[in-house]
Amino acid sequence: MKLNFCSLSSGSSGNCYYLGNEFHGILIDAGISATSIRKFLKNMDISMQTIMGVLITHNHTDHIKGLEVLTRKNNLPAFTTHKIWKSILTPHKKISPDCIREIPLKQRFHLADFDIEAFPVCHDAPETIGFHICAGDKKITIATDLGHICQTAAPYIKAANLLVIESNYDEQMLVNGKYPHFLKSRIQSDHGHLGNHQTSAFLADNISDNLSIICLAHLSKNNNTPVKVLQTLQQAFSERGIILNGQQRISILNRDMPTDMIRLIE
Ligand SMILES: [Zn+2]
Ligand SMILES: [Zn+2]
Repeated sequence: MKLNFCSLSSGSSGNCYYLGNEFHGILIDAGISATSIRKFLKNMDISMQTIMGVLITHNHTDHIKGLEVLTRKNNLPAFTTHKIWKSILTPHKKISPDCIREIPLKQRFHLADFDIEAFPVCHDAPETIGFHICAGDKKITIATDLGHICQTAAPYIKAANLLVIESNYDEQMLVNGKYPHFLKSRIQSDHGHLGNHQTSAFLADNISDNLSIICLAHLSKNNNTPVKVLQTLQQAFSERGIILNGQQRISILNRDMPTDMIRLIE
C-alpha cells in the first residue's frame, strides 16, 4: 500500500490536509472553499470520488469554510465530536444532515483504510481536537491549533512518524506587531496558538528516530515567516546537540498553496 500526505493550505486563512493511498483518501479540515479543494485535488490527479470523509478539528472558519458545500454538493461525510458539531451547526445550518458523523474522544474508529483517534487540545473554541491516524505501519498526528501541549495531547504528538504541528507566531514579531493588546494576549495564552519557541522546544525535547517528517503548520501571516520558524527550530536542536538522521526531514507548510506530495510509503 502506498501512503501520501499533502497540505492543500495551512494557516489562519485556511487549513486543509490530504492523506491517502492508491484507493482511498481523507481530508483533515475544510478551511478553504470547496472549489479550491476540488481544484487542488484534481491538479494532483486525486479523484474526489476516492475521498471518503473529512475530519474536522474545530469550528473556526479557517477550518470549516468549505464544509457546507462539501457536504451538500459532494455528499462528503464529515467527522467530529458532538460538542464540535453543536458549535458548527448553530451558525452553519446548511450542512447536509446526511453527512453528519459523530465521533468519540480518545476512541479509535475506522474510516476507509485508516484507524483514527481524536484527542482534545487546548484552544479557544468550544472544543478543539487533534487527530492521530494509523495507516499501514505509519502513524500521522495532526495538531494545528493549540495554546500549549497538554499532557493528554503530548503522547499522540510524540508517537507520530509524520507530525503536523502548529508553529504559529514568532514571539518578538507578535509582541512588537500591530495587533491590539487583547489579541496578543489571546494568541499567547494557553488556549491560543503555539509560538515558534514553544513548538521548537517541545520538538527538541521529544524528537526520536521514529519521527521522520515534521511539518510546521498554521503560520501567522502577520507575525511569522518560514525563515523564522526554521531558524528557531534549528537553534533549539543545536542547543541540545540534536542532529537529524538522514531519514528525517522538516517541511514548512505553505499558507495558501499546496505543498509537494510527501510519500510516506512508496
Ligand atoms: Zn486555525
Ligand atoms: Zn482555531
